[in-house]
Amino acid sequence: MAGETENGSSEHSFGTCCDELNQVMSGEEFEPLITVGDDNILYMSVGLIDIDEDEPGMVDHPIFFCPFCGKEIQDADEVREKMDALDEES
Ligand SMILES: [Zn+2]
Repeated sequence: MAGETENGSSEHSFGTCCDELNQVMSGEEFEPLITVGDDNILYMSVGLIDIDEDEPGMVDHPIFFCPFCGKEIQDADEVREKMDALDEES
């Protein structure tokens, strides 16, 4: 899991816009539904989907604006490029 940012150089810069998002990103007291993917894109879980009988999967969507303060935190084009690059790899 992420969180080894002791040296101050975090790999992403989400959570700098407001305390609320910062708290979610640190997620120490709960499992946040907003997470940074391996691709460094910020995703929000928007729902559950039944894949297996017992284990519902999470449906994630990239978010472009902070849900708390409304600041733009990701560029839509950039995210699309990253996701496209990811698709080509697999
Ligand atoms: Zn914010």
